[in-house]
Amino acid sequence: MDPKSFFKISYGVYIISSKKGGRFNGQVANAMMQVTSDPPQIALALNKNNLTHEFIKDSGVFTLSILSQDAPLNLIGGFGFKSGRDVDKFADTPYRVGRNGCPYLTENVLCYLEGKTVKDVDVGTHTIFVAVITDAEVLREGEPMTYAYYHQTKRGTTPKTAPTYVEIKKEERAMKKYTCKVCGYEYDPSQGDPEAGVAPNTPFEKLPADWVCPVCGAGKDQFEAQG
Ligand code: FE
Repeated sequence: MDPKSFFKISYGVYIISSKKGGRFNGQVANAMMQVTSDPPQIALALNKNNLTHEFIKDSGVFTLSILSQDAPLNLIGGFGFKSGRDVDKFADTPYRVGRNGCPYLTENVLCYLEGKTVKDVDVGTHTIFVAVITDAEVLREGEPMTYAYYHQTKRGTTPKTAPTYVEIKKEERAMKKYTCKVCGYEYDPSQGDPEAGVAPNTPFEKLPADWVCPVCGAGKDQFEAQG
């Protein structure tokens, strides 16, 4: 079996948020699809170890915020590579509370859905929640983020056909790429880190000392050079 086959499956990128007691939590998820239109239902797979999974099991409700293509990496990193057991993910994230009592993001989001679970299917490491959508609203127009866009464009490599493509010269090619040991983000000197104001063709060594991983927030000392 060639595991690369799975990379050809298409997904969106979503923030799933739920509540338990007086607390909110949310996480990034891509394994979601609409399964019926009447009533409107979706299926969503979440890892059993995640705090959001625990919250949905407890409350039976959640919101699903659909990210826009221009959502910054650190938003996805904050919800995707940190645990609500360690940090309050909504402390610095603008949100409103939906009719079902769960928070949805108000920035970098095109629309949100409110879900109420009707069935849980145990699939080993994950649970598939089947949920009826009880409310939904469009916040603004735009292109939704896709999983492929997040990995291919946001994380460094840019297609040659894109207007932003920068041809890599020989000496630039010699600059080493560095990988974040925490989340796997790859710092590619030819791309820099535009969201943090780092221009393309900035070697890792010349990044400011307080530069952090744009995805998970780890410091420079958590990076290692690629061989
Ligand atoms: Fe990282």
